[in-house]
Amino acid sequence: MGHDHEHDNHLDPMAARVKALETILVEKGLVEAAAIDAIIETYENKVGPRNGARVVAKAWSDPDFAAWLANDATAAIASLGFTGRQGEHMRAVFNTPEQHHLVVCTLCSCYPWSVLGLPPVWYKSPPYRSRAVIDPRGVLAEFGLELPADTQIRVWDSTAELRYLVVPMRPAGTGHLEEEALADLVTRDSMIGTGLAIAAGEAA
Ligand code: FE
Repeated sequence: MGHDHEHDNHLDPMAARVKALETILVEKGLVEAAAIDAIIETYENKVGPRNGARVVAKAWSDPDFAAWLANDATAAIASLGFTGRQGEHMRAVFNTPEQHHLVVCTLCSCYPWSVLGLPPVWYKSPPYRSRAVIDPRGVLAEFGLELPADTQIRVWDSTAELRYLVVPMRPAGTGHLEEEALADLVTRDSMIGTGLAIAAGEAA
């Protein structure tokens, strides 16, 4: 994090304490800011969302699990071992050709940590939080996602009580893939609704 004159009194008490700790550790030469950034990046993009990707891949592969996930996401997700703070009350919403789901927290940054890890910076930003509701199609376009005009976009407002997991549509041509390979197609953004699952053959 650069020297950007960010004032600590804009942070909530926990964030302020974390920032203070990071500053001391960096000043004493115990850690490098870049290392901390790398760890955060890992939890935002890699470790965290892998849990959600496994949930989605299982739902794609196992109709009984998908039905359970639709009826009681909290229990279905917990059965895979993904529980914990910010994931106590989950609801899974399933994309279809007719309806695309998008998740936002208009109040702050409620996010399903147990399946998606740390929220990305943009998820916490005021523009995303306000515009996702007012102009979801425009917001998706900025993410590079152009949906068919007749696909309805439904926006879910995440709260402290209830967190959402979007189950993206399974990409065409993946009928032969095992769960593990399917999970590689499930991006973090596809589980927030700002992206789609990766098309078969395009996985890294
Ligand atoms: Fe929130």
